[in-house]
Amino acid sequence: MRDRNLADTSGYGGIKLGCIADDFTGATDLANNLVRGGMRVVQTIGVPRQALDTQADAAVVALKSRTVSPGEAVAQSLAALQWLKVQGARQIYFKYCSTFDSVYNGEQRGNIGPVTEALMDALGTDFTVATPAFPDNARTVFKGHLFVGDVLLAESGMRNHPLTPMTDSNLVRVLQAQCKHPVGLLDYSVVAQGEAAIGQRIGQLRAQGVRIAVVDALSNADLLVLGRALAGLPLLTAGSGLAIGLPANFSIAASPCASVLPAARGFAAVVSGSCSVATNEQVRHFISAGLSAFAIDPLQLAAGVDVVAKALDWAGSRLGPQPLLVYSTVDTVAVKAAQARMGAQAAGELVEQALARIAKGLVERGVGQLIVAGGETSGACVQALGIERMQVGMQVAPGVPWCHALIAPHAKPLHILLKSGNFGADDIFSQAFKALS
Ligand code: ADP
Repeated sequence: MRDRNLADTSGYGGIKLGCIADDFTGATDLANNLVRGGMRVVQTIGVPRQALDTQADAAVVALKSRTVSPGEAVAQSLAALQWLKVQGARQIYFKYCSTFDSVYNGEQRGNIGPVTEALMDALGTDFTVATPAFPDNARTVFKGHLFVGDVLLAESGMRNHPLTPMTDSNLVRVLQAQCKHPVGLLDYSVVAQGEAAIGQRIGQLRAQGVRIAVVDALSNADLLVLGRALAGLPLLTAGSGLAIGLPANFSIAASPCASVLPAARGFAAVVSGSCSVATNEQVRHFISAGLSAFAIDPLQLAAGVDVVAKALDWAGSRLGPQPLLVYSTVDTVAVKAAQARMGAQAAGELVEQALARIAKGLVERGVGQLIVAGGETSGACVQALGIERMQVGMQVAPGVPWCHALIAPHAKPLHILLKSGNFGADDIFSQAFKALS
């Protein structure tokens, strides 16, 4: 990358939309929706030290702020905001998970509220919205309650998440517990009436002192109406769904050119640290197709066994035409058992770091097409690989695009797909490699 100072956007015109994502798979999920809407999108890993040296309509700064302390999450997000503003962003989008989770441990009630309020203060705005609705992935919000498929959030697999369990489906209540200022609801009866009614309701909520409105949305049509109605807000906070209506606000139309990536090279591998219900099925599917897989046991890691070396030795002789899988994915009972022995945080970090070193080792051994399953796991892998930014390409499943990165120090090309735990059909791993061939 040429050494350009932070504010030097000369020749590149500046970005239109600036996005801050609280985890890495979430960032690609958001970028994916913007690319599908015709925006050229660059995703950066953390806050860059330099100005963007490529033409882009939007930049997504991927943070790993979902599971850190609120103070740390706020500091990271404000640094991202500052960089995005310097790059020319006219609107800011704070992206969190479509299951609205962030670290919650009794004392710490989540990071979405503190980050939202800090961004509002920094942008000098007194109103924003919050909606994790993502109908393409069966996340809908009605009367302020989040549904995952046909069940309420608190009855979904999210109630057992290893790091961020969600046991309340009422988002107004969840967010209010994280906020200093009043949280309200912009409900479906208003959304269904269209842009003018939404604008009017926002005026009423503001007059009542509401600072953040949880917004109902059941379909992409709702999100498109909302996109238009919210064009004038300096800050939007949402899952990735709300993004589908935004490119049009900047006079950008969908175009296949936005998602073109270079041709893929190298061996194919999957590294999975997600224990979500969907990933468990995907790992089962991969193994039952007769493909090679190596399981990582957190208890062996804790006992000091060099599991990373074992996994890489195992992979070394197997890399070839077929993809292989290294995974720590287990069901809820096994996660709870490991956490009881090691502590949830310690188990999570140990496994993430091991998988990240394995991902790095695999790329050093010639893997050029890498899938990482799990949000936190993806964050650890991308950091270990030293990836600073990625061009976002075509979608394999809703919220899951292939990306392209150049790995330092020799700018080695890598296609990488970061899959959020809950996303994708059972055969997503094979479908993804097929899409690159
Ligand atoms: P998801 O996208 O499904 O939420 P994440 O990677 O964000 O996946 O989170 C999964 C967490 O569970 C990570 O911190 C990971 O290290 C941890 N983990 C993975 N495998 C195990 C295991 N076998 N036992 C305990 N924790 C695990």
